[in-house]
Amino acid sequence: MQRNLAMKLLLASGILLAMATVSLRGSEVNVDALARDASVSRSLSWLAHNLDWITEQHIRLSEIPAPEFSEGPRGEALRKIFEANGLKTRVDGIGNVIGERAGSQPDEIILLAAHLDTVFPAGTNVKVKRDGGRLEAPGIADNGAGLAALIAVSRALQEGRVRTGATIVFAGDVGEEGEGNLRGIRALVDSFGSKLRAVIAVDGAATDFVTTQGLASRRIEAYVTGPGGHSWSDFGAPNPITALSRGIVKFSGISVPDSPRTSFNFGVIEGGTSVNSIPNRAAVKVDLRSEDDAQISRLESALHEAIRAGVND
Ligand SMILES: [Zn+2]
Repeated sequence: MQRNLAMKLLLASGILLAMATVSLRGSEVNVDALARDASVSRSLSWLAHNLDWITEQHIRLSEIPAPEFSEGPRGEALRKIFEANGLKTRVDGIGNVIGERAGSQPDEIILLAAHLDTVFPAGTNVKVKRDGGRLEAPGIADNGAGLAALIAVSRALQEGRVRTGATIVFAGDVGEEGEGNLRGIRALVDSFGSKLRAVIAVDGAATDFVTTQGLASRRIEAYVTGPGGHSWSDFGAPNPITALSRGIVKFSGISVPDSPRTSFNFGVIEGGTSVNSIPNRAAVKVDLRSEDDAQISRLESALHEAIRAGVND
């Protein structure tokens, strides 16, 4: 884990430093030459010599539970570290923790973000176990490692006394997982708007690739309602579970292209109150994704149609 972390940090800092320097020119950058720059090489050397400190921060934040919609305590701990790293900090209205490092161009912003929340529900034991150089805990990689990278990069820039053209905004964002539905990063992108020159999300356990293409996703809850009734005395009344199931089966036959890569998933289904009552409601949560937004719209209308056809049947 430590080796992976080191790779991730170096990768993230290399990209960030490169973008901070070239964002106004938009030209190719020679990373080797950049790494030899005195302030950048001080930063890289700080990273190489302070992995233990970075790992301590990584563990400390990962041991503060942060299920979606309850990111506050972990966010406050991150804010304090940002402040100690010389960033100008604030927390926005929905709980995103923001640390700014001013460049000479306040209207040119590079946003480096890692999400605060985890997929693990409240009550999960988040104590970190160390096994040699390996760290084990729920959320230690996704996205404890991303938060550690933000901390490390902001501290390394400070230690190296790196000066940038663009202003760099470090953000621990809320609501990335599940029902959070990306509300944190959406709010950040909305608030910085046209000033944004680059957005870098540090996330996930892989250190061997960088994703540069956007993926459109849409999450839908479809529900069917009916009069309900008793399983014996009202037998024959329309049943929302049957109608919804027919719709799901119809939709599942849809063909999706390999390119642009497109997917759909029925993730949660619920409805009914007891085995001997006809339910008055049934609902399903659906996740649609595609490299092309038009495919998502096509899937969404097909889903509407399929469920309507299920109801008609
Ligand atoms: Zn993640």
